[in-house]
Amino acid sequence: MAGGTVTLERLPKGADLVEAVLEVALRHNLTHGAVKVIGALQCAVLGYYNQKAMKYESIDVVEEVEIVSGLGNISIKDDQPFVHLHLVLSKQDGVCLGGHAMPGTVIFAAEAMLQAGAGDAPHRKFDPDTGLYLWS
Ligand code: ZN
Repeated sequence: MAGGTVTLERLPKGADLVEAVLEVALRHNLTHGAVKVIGALQCAVLGYYNQKAMKYESIDVVEEVEIVSGLGNISIKDDQPFVHLHLVLSKQDGVCLGGHAMPGTVIFAAEAMLQAGAGDAPHRKFDPDTGLYLWS
């Protein structure tokens, strides 16, 4: 996809959300860009990065939730496209929770918009100050 080009796709029910976004990116040869996703999930696992311990803690969301907002990006990590996605999810009473989308986040229905970035893809490298893989 040329820089700026947008693709809109429905993601498959029952698929892992991050894997489904990555599949769209790979199919379109998209190495870097922006991701937006809305929809609903059967369940989710959210990550919270503990800055002192420098590790992710996971939050299991064992209920059906709406994706109020899904925002993320795609860049290169270990020579492969990598999806970084954050979610705000609402429960049945409208109360929201959010975090970093982790494996185990299962789609009920989801609509994704991927926009290809221009220029060279940013590459993620391990950053010892944060313990995270950040753009170098
Ligand atoms: Zn994150």
